[in-house]
Amino acid sequence: MLRIEGLKSGYGRIQALHGVDIEVGQGEIVALVGANGAGKTTLLMTLCGNPRASEGRVLLAGEDITALPTHQIIRRGLAHSPEGRHIFPRMSVYENLQMGAAVSDPRHFDQDLERVLALFPRLKERLDQRGGTLSGGEQQMLAIGRALMSRPKLLLLDEPSLGLAPLVVRHIFEIIAAISRDQGVTIFLVEQNAFHALKLAHRGYVLVNGKVALSGSGTDLLANPEIRAHYLDGG
Ligand code: ATP
Repeated sequence: MLRIEGLKSGYGRIQALHGVDIEVGQGEIVALVGANGAGKTTLLMTLCGNPRASEGRVLLAGEDITALPTHQIIRRGLAHSPEGRHIFPRMSVYENLQMGAAVSDPRHFDQDLERVLALFPRLKERLDQRGGTLSGGEQQMLAIGRALMSRPKLLLLDEPSLGLAPLVVRHIFEIIAAISRDQGVTIFLVEQNAFHALKLAHRGYVLVNGKVALSGSGTDLLANPEIRAHYLDGG
């Protein structure tokens, strides 16, 4: 579904990714873990076309999307739930979800809304409430729900557990599993919370200083002593 080959990217003279190779198969949940500043967010943003890759390429379902503008990348089935959620705080929950459907066929809207609200009953109860008044966990649900409104083939999730209480984190990860299992959406997840991410994922990659240092099944990575020492303290 997603193939990243030799990807290099950064900000002006600062290079954040130094040749990254990652594959995500159809229906898989793949986690990318790594320390603060390793380049995880930069990778997801480069997949969406901003910043642009300076070298390498990105294939989505076999098509080279590396040089496409962001709205065309979204049209081809990529959706991004960004770090820090970035919901529209003054808009209602309903309007936020509408924004997620901006590039979709309007004839699908009601059906897509129903599907998203079935996943997130909490959002259904709060459709008229302003996004900014939701709790952190509800805002995370809204960010994921908004991304799902474009009917993605591949959902990119950046730090869905960030700043949430442990119980809420568990709930969010259960929903992510359900999106994969019940809706057949392929998921590429970036997380500092390596324990939860690797427990959920079929496979994982570890990013260190803009390069993949290690990869394997979620179970193998969780059992790896190096991972346990560096990324799982407190997990
Ligand atoms: P975090 O979990 O803190 O977001 P990360 O693994 O996602 O970490 P990135 O945010 O991708 O890491 O950062 C990778 C590198 O790029 C870091 O050295 C960071 O300082 C740098 N960087 C990130 N955003 C920018 C920016 N807008 N301009 C310049 N440098 C940036």
